Amino acid sequence: MVQLFYTVSFDDTVFTVPTRYTELSPRGRGAQGLVCAAYDTVTQQNVAIKKLSRPFQNVTHAKRAYREFKLMKLVNHKNIIGLLNAFTPQLCQEEFQDVYLVMELMDANLCQVIQMDLDHERMSYLLYQMLCGIKHLHLAGIIHRDLKPSNIVVKSDCTLKILDFGLARTAGSNFTMTPYVVTRYYRAPEVILGMGYTENVDIWSVGCIMGEMIRGGVLFPGTDHIDQWNKIIEQLGTPSAAFMARLQPTVRNYVENRPRYSGYSFDRLFPDILFPSDSNEHNRLKVENRPRYSGYSFDRLFPDILFPSDSNEHNRLKASQARDLLSHMLVVDPERRISVDDALLHPYINVWYDEQEVNAPAPAAYDHSVDEREHTVEQWKQLIYQEVVEYSAPPPPPAPQPPPAPQPALTT
Ligand code: AMP
Repeated sequence: MVQLFYTVSFDDTVFTVPTRYTELSPRGRGAQGLVCAAYDTVTQQNVAIKKLSRPFQNVTHAKRAYREFKLMKLVNHKNIIGLLNAFTPQLCQEEFQDVYLVMELMDANLCQVIQMDLDHERMSYLLYQMLCGIKHLHLAGIIHRDLKPSNIVVKSDCTLKILDFGLARTAGSNFTMTPYVVTRYYRAPEVILGMGYTENVDIWSVGCIMGEMIRGGVLFPGTDHIDQWNKIIEQLGTPSAAFMARLQPTVRNYVENRPRYSGYSFDRLFPDILFPSDSNEHNRLKVENRPRYSGYSFDRLFPDILFPSDSNEHNRLKASQARDLLSHMLVVDPERRISVDDALLHPYINVWYDEQEVNAPAPAAYDHSVDEREHTVEQWKQLIYQEVVEYSAPPPPPAPQPPPAPQPALTT
C-alpha cells in the first residue's frame, strides 16, 4: 500500500510522517530524539511519535535502536509503553535513514509529577504501577538498571507507563556519544560500583523516585559516580564489610578509604513534615465522587486507603508505612534490599494489588544474544529495516479488556 508523507520542522528536527498523522506538536526530547504528540486520523486516537535521532550514526546507536524496537514489540503490559506503529519515509533499504515509532500518547513524564503535592493514594498507586511494569520486564529477562523519572510517563487519570528498557546487559555505564547529558542519579550502588546485579537493582531506582516524591528534590544528585557514591553514603551510612568484600579490588580500595559515615535514620531523612497532612475532607469528597463499575471486588474498588477513619491518624499510619518501605528499598547492599515481589506485598503498596496486573502472562523471553551480537552499522541497518517493514502489517488488535478499576486522578 502506498503511503503519502508530509514534512514538518521543529527547530533542528524534521519530521516526515504519513498523512494519517495530523496536528504534530513537540512533547519532549530524550537521548534518542524528539517525541511529538499527534492525532491518528485512522484509529482516531492521540499518539506520540518518536523519531530516533540518527540511529545509524554509529554501532552503539544502531544496536540500541534495534534492541528498543525488538523489546517494544515483545512486551505487552499496561505499565510498559506499547508500540502502535512504526514507519520510515524512505522507500527502500538503500535510502533507509529514519525510524519513527508510534506509541500511545501520555500526558506528562514523572519529572513533572514529582513537583506536585502527591497524597498517599496517588503516590502509592504510581509506585504500585512502576513495580508491576518492572516485574513484567523481569519476567522477560530484562533488568532495567536505569529507571528514572524522565523515562516514566503518566496520564492525568494516574495511569503510568515505563518508556524504555534500560541498559543492555553488555552496556558500559559510562559510554555515550550523544551531547545529551545522561542522568545517573537513580542508578543503584551495584551499577555505580560496577558489581554484579540482580532484579532488585531496579528497586533502588524506585526508592530514589519515591524519596524524591516525598522530599521534593533529588536524593543523590551526584555530578559523577564518585560524587554520587559520596552523597549516598553521607545519608545512608558506610556499607558493611561484607558488602566491601564483594567489590573489585580497585573499587574496594577507593570505597574503603572514604571517611566513615554512620548515616541518618529514616525518621531524620524523611521527617513527618514532608508527608501529606490532614486531608480528610479532600479524601471523603474523592471517595463520594468516585465512578462505580461492576465486576470488581469492593476491596479493590474502595481499598482501605480511601477510608481514613481519622485523617491525622490515617496519614500518620501511611507516612510510617511509606517510610518503612523506603527504608527497605534504599539499602546499599542489594543482598539486604527488598525484592520486587515483597515490595508489591508491602502494606503501603498492596492496597492496589490485582493478580492480573501483578502476574500478567509473561512475555516471550528476550533473546539477549542481540546485545552481544557484533554487526557493522550497515548490517544493523538491514536488520532494522526488515523489522520496520514487517511492522507495517501489525497483528489484529487484542481482545477487549474489562473496564478499568477506579484510580486516583493526578489533577487536584
Ligand atoms: P524518550 O526519548 O523516550 O526518553 O522520551 C523523551 C521525553 O518525551 C519523555 O521524557 C517524555 O516527556 C516525552 N515522551 C516520550 N514518550 C511519550 C509518550 N508516549 N507520551 C507522552 N510523552 C512522551
